[in-house]
Amino acid sequence: MTLPIFQSATFEWSGTTDYHEIRYGRLSNTPNHVALHDKLADIESAEAALVASSGMAAISTSLLTVLSAGDHLLAQNVLYGGTFDFVTKDLPSWGIEVDLVDGHDPEEWKEKLRPNTRAFYVETISNPLMTVSNLDEAARFAREHNLLSFIDNTFASPINFRPAEHGFDLSLHSATKYLNGHSDLIAGAIIGRREVVDRVKIKLDHLGGSLDPHACFLLNRGLKTLGLRIAYQNASAQALAEALESFDRVRAVHYSGLPGHRDHQTASRLLDGFGGMISFEINGSGAEVQERIDRLTIATDAPSLGGPETLVTIPANTSHAGMTPEERKMSGIAGGLIRVSVGLEGTQDLIDDFRQALS
Ligand SMILES: *Cc1c(COP(=O)(O)O)cnc(C)c1O
Repeated sequence: MTLPIFQSATFEWSGTTDYHEIRYGRLSNTPNHVALHDKLADIESAEAALVASSGMAAISTSLLTVLSAGDHLLAQNVLYGGTFDFVTKDLPSWGIEVDLVDGHDPEEWKEKLRPNTRAFYVETISNPLMTVSNLDEAARFAREHNLLSFIDNTFASPINFRPAEHGFDLSLHSATKYLNGHSDLIAGAIIGRREVVDRVKIKLDHLGGSLDPHACFLLNRGLKTLGLRIAYQNASAQALAEALESFDRVRAVHYSGLPGHRDHQTASRLLDGFGGMISFEINGSGAEVQERIDRLTIATDAPSLGGPETLVTIPANTSHAGMTPEERKMSGIAGGLIRVSVGLEGTQDLIDDFRQALS
């Protein structure tokens, strides 16, 4: 009932003459890899999948598969920090041009499109304001203009959104987060059209970002509870978001499951659940906001997300510390903004914890 760990770098030669058919750990084709690939493709209703050594390995390897010097990329302007740096600093240093666009503004996509544009890159739920842009329109736009469409589906998970069903070519995950769900490994996943995944696989063989068999085993185990975890986190986050809205000290709550969120209608149409990520704003100086966080007894002040334990961070001090206060203000990231990754604790316990910390 449990797939063992095949802790072997190499396997007996079976007579094949194709290099990529040789069984060798870096080629991501051991029994642990193959089982995961089948499962990940299945849960996103996609043709094929591939695991990688981290979310950033999945993202960078996929982009480098389809982009070369002289090409142009369109990407959403709000991106995970590592991805933002990769597309705005690394890609241009290799002669690949990038334009950032508003995911809500198809007119701007058209204006920035060029003859050498090869791909369009978006995220399902953006960090830290939990916006959801016109995702099916983005996939359609890419198809119409012969671009490959990429979407980082980490925050939604395959339970809440399956990009292949909306016409995306490739979905990317930090499997470190919800897919594994236990905050005990670093991994990535690439899921989508077989022809594209096969091309990424060859590039991953060369760049070397393969996942080791023990991490494959843990990820395979974590996936067994994905549906249960996400259903619970969706419900718990909704209840916590609603409670936060009622607290005097809270100025704003950003959660697309709330009717007041700018993208509530889009999210209701596209997503099967609004996810486990919330952010909210309180008044006060940086030190005062930190003092409130320190009063939490269940939630822990730590980066990352998607695990069993509720985590909080202040984006202005962590993920978005590289921006100036003015840049943050323009992006809507207030100094008193707190991000929450809702875990698996009792919902009422969590609400009570935030209530006492903010009272
Ligand atoms: C964490 C994260 C990544 C990067 O994944 P790693 O596993 O840390 O390399 C990419 N995208 C999103 C949305 C993330 O949250």
